[in-house]
Amino acid sequence: MENCLFCKFVNREYKTDIVFENDDFIMFKDINPVAKNHFLAVPKRHFKYLAEMTEDDANMLGRIMKKISELKDLLGLENGYRLVINQGDDAGQTVPHLHIHVLSGQKMEWHPA
Ligand code: 5GP
Ligand code: ZN
Repeated sequence: MENCLFCKFVNREYKTDIVFENDDFIMFKDINPVAKNHFLAVPKRHFKYLAEMTEDDANMLGRIMKKISELKDLLGLENGYRLVINQGDDAGQTVPHLHIHVLSGQKMEWHPA
C-alpha cells in the first residue's frame, strides 16, 4: 500500500526499532506512549478494518495475539496488560493500517469513552 506509514516500517522503507518480527507481524514501541510500556503489533498485510479480514487474516490475528501473550519479558506483561484496536473515527484511529496496541507496566484506568 503506497503512502502507508506502517507498510513503510514493514518494508524497511522507513526505519523504526523493531523489537520482534515473524512472518505475520512486526512490533515496535509507540512514539507517543500512553502507558509505561506501549508497543504496537502491526500485521505485515495492509488492511484498515477488522471488517475487511479474510479467514486467513482472522487466523493470522489469532496467531499474533497468541505470540504477544508469549512475549512476557520483552513486553513487560507479568502483572497484566491491555490490548487495544482502534477502529475508525469515533475510536480515534489515526493510522489506516490495522494494529494492536499493547499497554502494560502500570495500573490502568478503564474509561474508554
Ligand atoms: P491509532 O491512533 O491509529 O490507534 O494508533 C496509531 C499509533 O501510532 C499512535 O499511538 C501513534 O503514537 C503511533 N505512531 C504514529 N506515528 C508513529 C511513528 O512514526 N513511529 C511510531 N513508533 N509510532 C507512531
Ligand atoms: Zn499499510
